[in-house]
Amino acid sequence: MSLNRFDLSGRNALVTGSSRGIGLALARGLAQAGAQVMLNGRDPIRTEIAAAALRDDGLAVQACVFDVTDPDRVADGMMHFEARMGAMDILVNNAGIQRRTPLLQAPEDTWAEVIETNLTAVFRCGREAARLMAPRGRGKIINIASLMSEAARPGVGPYAAAKGGVKMLTRAMCVEWAPLGLNVNAIGPGYFATEMNAELVADAAFDAWIRRRTPAGRWGNVDELIGAAIFLASDASSFVNGQVLYVDGGVLAGL
Ligand code: NDP
Repeated sequence: MSLNRFDLSGRNALVTGSSRGIGLALARGLAQAGAQVMLNGRDPIRTEIAAAALRDDGLAVQACVFDVTDPDRVADGMMHFEARMGAMDILVNNAGIQRRTPLLQAPEDTWAEVIETNLTAVFRCGREAARLMAPRGRGKIINIASLMSEAARPGVGPYAAAKGGVKMLTRAMCVEWAPLGLNVNAIGPGYFATEMNAELVADAAFDAWIRRRTPAGRWGNVDELIGAAIFLASDASSFVNGQVLYVDGGVLAGL
């Protein structure tokens, strides 16, 4: 099979939560594969600095600031995207937060914040993008799930519940939107050393546990998620639908 199937030239992509971390790496990777990419985040300065850095590397990148938990701003953001870039071909639902708390002590507002950002916003952004994509009969939606779509750990109950929901939402989107010509899949990252995990990375005992627990024996590098994203965003995955592709160094393969 020709490598042209992975080429994203002429495609327009929105990556939510891409001012840093995994989203920024995926945005860079999609742009390097030829796509024109819109970065997104809530912090205008950070988002614009990230976009400018990618542009300095010769990539076709713009920035659009909105909060994925605000329905009006999401709808505006999608319209703004199409006005500036043209038809949306690819949406990566990446924006996410972590709030660590034991379930026994979990406040209602913490639960609501995590579910709203990590699950409801995936539905919302996906629905808005699908409304644009469906009349054209094509589009790629990639939801960022987690190994916690499959397995929990004490202290991350709201997050695990949301990410488990993202797995099933991906399947629900697939069964409704694949008949309209869309591909909806998810990537399930294992442990990656981003700002979200800063306190875990700094914890020597946790770091040692991750290295023991991961068959590959290490944390992931965010660039190691790019291949999965290009595959799921490109023609190479034209008959792949409703799947979660775990990129976790083998964590979920063993006990
Ligand atoms: P980071 O905290 O490093 O980055 C999160 C990004 O999302 C930032 O750009 C942030 O920008 C943005 N963001 C957060 N909330 C919102 C919002 N309401 N609206 C718009 N943008 C928002 O996280 P990671 O890169 O580590 O995680 C990215 C995704 O990958 C998340 O969905 C996470 O759950 C998932 N994941 C991460 C893993 C890991 O090991 N790191 C493992 C498995 C899954 P700003 O704050 O300026 O809005």
